[in-house]
Amino acid sequence: MRPARALIDLSALRHNYRLAKSLSGCRALAVVKANAYGHGALECAAALDAEVDGFAVSAIEEALELRAAGHRQPIVLLEGWFEASELELICQHDLWPVIHHDGHLQDLEQANLSKPLNAWLKLDSGMHRTGFSPQIYPTIWRQLLASGKVANLTSITHFSRADEPDTGRTEQQLEAVRSATADLGEVARSLCNSAGVLAWPQAHGDWVRPGIMLYGSSPFGFPQPQAAQLQPVMQLESKIIAVHQVASGEPIGYGSRYLTTRPSRIGLVAMGYADGYPRHAADGTPVLVDGQRTSLVGRVSMDMLTVDLTDLPASGLGSHVRLWGKGLDAGEVASHAGTISYQLFCNLNRVPRCYQ
Ligand code: PLP
Repeated sequence: MRPARALIDLSALRHNYRLAKSLSGCRALAVVKANAYGHGALECAAALDAEVDGFAVSAIEEALELRAAGHRQPIVLLEGWFEASELELICQHDLWPVIHHDGHLQDLEQANLSKPLNAWLKLDSGMHRTGFSPQIYPTIWRQLLASGKVANLTSITHFSRADEPDTGRTEQQLEAVRSATADLGEVARSLCNSAGVLAWPQAHGDWVRPGIMLYGSSPFGFPQPQAAQLQPVMQLESKIIAVHQVASGEPIGYGSRYLTTRPSRIGLVAMGYADGYPRHAADGTPVLVDGQRTSLVGRVSMDMLTVDLTDLPASGLGSHVRLWGKGLDAGEVASHAGTISYQLFCNLNRVPRCYQ
């Protein structure tokens, strides 16, 4: 059997969820969209079921899968897509849709629903991706409540730069939330993704929506004290399957991207871009071999990649390799590939997931 696999530590997932709860002191939706960011939605939902306040997904299919597995908690359909004909399905399964554009309002107006929905109304507080502007938000809020189509409404917005504390943008978005909801009386609010939970206590509101932090990866590109308490959930692992001695000045792999600068021991690892390891990872991307740091050398192939073992004389054929996880933050690996840990996790492919 190929040694490549992703170990998923479900107790770390629970630890991270509890951290989101204790930092925010409010209800927390576990964001398990996109197959729980590649970690396995059903396994992650089962691990959290006894304590989770609710789930957030992006597609109805994802929500129905959770319902079919027996999860009875609230499920919020984030800014995903649904059609008028699906509103009754949403209603029957008690899914909580996010109403975020005019088409949704028209669909709701025309719908003949068996019962009123628990809906969330999206405020565009400055990200300009989805939602209603602060100017028209109060009117739409009141119209929806008066329509009889919703049992209750929660106000939701999304931060565009909560992971960059010094830009001033999150403060502007907070001000937009304040002004849009000031005259609406008692309003339940949901503002925070992981960066909001970790760094913006003044924004926690009534529901938080942690995603990446549940999986133990920091949304920040710098050390952050709260994020330091996260535990990585996924360990992407493999083994050295061959070792070659290569002279100085020799190229390694496709395109001869890397040239050895000394006589080198090059280890071949059973892990490639078909497994989800990023093909764009640069020379020097950190890799742990037998728990020690070394680096990727040469271009990543479909099924294999190469690492420098010259300074690790005790490591060789059969040595344990960790591509990310405990001791090697996926975010650090991602930064060497011009991407973010979110994408590394979501791109995971072919490797079996082993739950612990
Ligand atoms: N809320 C919304 C509306 C989102 O789109 C997302 C993620 O894309 C999240 C919450 C979770 O974000 P994060 O993974 O950064 O915590």
